[in-house]
Amino acid sequence: MQPPSAPTESLDAFRTRARAWLAAADIPEVPRDIDSRFATLRQWQKTLFEAGWVGIAWSKQAGGQGLSHLHHLVFVGELARAGAPQPIGLIGLEVVGPSIDRYGTDWQRHELLPRLLSGDDIWCQGFSEPNAGSDLASLRTRAVADGDEFLVSGQKIWTSWAHLSHWCALLVRTDTSVRKQAGISYLLVDMTSPGITTRPITQMTGDREFCEVFFDDVRVPRANLLGGVNEGWAIATHTLGSERAGATLRRRVECEVALDEALDHLRAARGSSSDDRATAAVGRAHVAMRVLDAQTRQTTARLVADTGPTPMDSVDKLLLTDVEQIVFAEIAALLGPLRAVPGARARGLLSQRWAYEHLYSRAASIYGGSSQIQRTIIAERLMGLPRG
Ligand SMILES: Cc1cc2nc3c(=O)[nH]c(=O)nc-3n(C[C@H](O)[C@H](O)[C@H](O)COP(=O)(O)OP(=O)(O)OC[C@H]3O[C@@H](n4cnc5c(N)ncnc54)[C@H](O)[C@@H]3O)c2cc1C
Repeated sequence: MQPPSAPTESLDAFRTRARAWLAAADIPEVPRDIDSRFATLRQWQKTLFEAGWVGIAWSKQAGGQGLSHLHHLVFVGELARAGAPQPIGLIGLEVVGPSIDRYGTDWQRHELLPRLLSGDDIWCQGFSEPNAGSDLASLRTRAVADGDEFLVSGQKIWTSWAHLSHWCALLVRTDTSVRKQAGISYLLVDMTSPGITTRPITQMTGDREFCEVFFDDVRVPRANLLGGVNEGWAIATHTLGSERAGATLRRRVECEVALDEALDHLRAARGSSSDDRATAAVGRAHVAMRVLDAQTRQTTARLVADTGPTPMDSVDKLLLTDVEQIVFAEIAALLGPLRAVPGARARGLLSQRWAYEHLYSRAASIYGGSSQIQRTIIAERLMGLPRG
C-alpha cells in the first residue's frame, strides 16, 4: 500500500503517482456476463481501496484520503486513460455515501462508510416507484413506527444492482397527512432483512442490471433513519445533486477517452484515407464535448468550494446527456461497417462494446431525473419562469 498522502500533494505529483501505480497494476478485463462483471469490479474496488485510490476527496474521518475533488477528477481521468474500469460501488461512492457522511449519525458514518468505500458493501438507491419517478414526492412505500423499528411495505422499481447489493438507501412515506414532500423519511436498509424480494428487469443492452424490489413488512431499526422522521426530502435532494455533479465530470472524461480510442481503431482499420462523413461526425462529438467543458469549469469550482447541489447541476446533466448520446451514436455509426469485416476478432469485440455503450447512452436522458425534468428545473429555478 502507498503511504498516506499529504493533503498538500500537488496535482502534478498526484497524477505522476497515480500513473505509476496504474502502470504497474493488474488491471482486470471486464467480463460481459453481469454476475462475473459485478464480482470482478467489486474486487477491483477492493484493490483500489487498499492502495488508497477510493474516497480520494472524502474526509479522513469518513475513511477517505482527505484530498480535493480536483485530485479525485485527476484519478478518474487516469483510470479512463489507462483503460481501467471504475469501481462497482459508484452508487455508494457518488450518490448515497456523501449524504450519509453529511446527515448521518456517528454510528451510521463509522459503521457504514468504511465498508462502502472498500467495496465490502455495495449500495443501491431505492427512490423510484411504479407511479413515482419524475414525480418522486408521490412515493407510497410506507414505513410505520413500531417501537424501536419501522415496518416497511411497498414497491420500488428501476433499482440498479438491487439484487446484488448489501444496503439500500430507501425513501419511504412516514406521514400521509401533510404536503407530500413533508411526509418522506430516508432509511438505510440492510438488503438481507426478511421480507425483501428483488426481481431483475432486462434492459435493452441485454443486462439485468436494475430490479423491481418488494418490501413486505420489513423491519428496519430506528437507528437506520438518516436525518429525522419526515426530513427525507431535503436529504434526497442532496443525494440526487451529488449524483449529478460527480457523474458529469467522470462521464465527460470517459467520453473523451472513448472517442479517442474509437478514432485510433478507425485509423488502424482504414489507414489515412480521408472520409468527409467521419470528419463531420468527429466534429460534432468534439463540439458537444467543448460545450460541456465550458460549462463544467463552473462545476469543478462548485465542487471545490463544496457549495452542495444547485440548479446548475441540471444544466450539466442536460449537456452531459447530449455528449454521451452524440459521442456514442457517432462512434457506433463510424465503426458500424467494421462489424462486417470477416475474421476481425478484435474489431468484432470492439463494435460489440460500442454497440453496448450506444444503447446504454440512451438511458442518460432518463436516470437521475429525465431531460424534461432538468429543463423544468432550469426554467423555474434559474430563469425564473412561472411554474407549470
Ligand atoms: C438505467 C437506469 C437506471 C436507474 N437506476 C435507478 C436507481 O438505481 N434507483 C432509482 O430509484 N431509480 C433509478 N432509475 C429510475 C429513474 O430515476 C426514473 O426512470 C426517472 O426518474 C423517470 O421516472 P419514470 O421512469 O417513472 O418516468 P416518468 O416519470 O413516468 O416519465 C415518463 C416520461 O414523461 C416525462 N415527464 C414526466 N413528468 C413530466 C413533467 N412534469 N413535465 C414534463 N415531462 C414529464 C418524463 O421526462 C419521461 O419522458 C433508473 C433509470 C434508468 C433508465
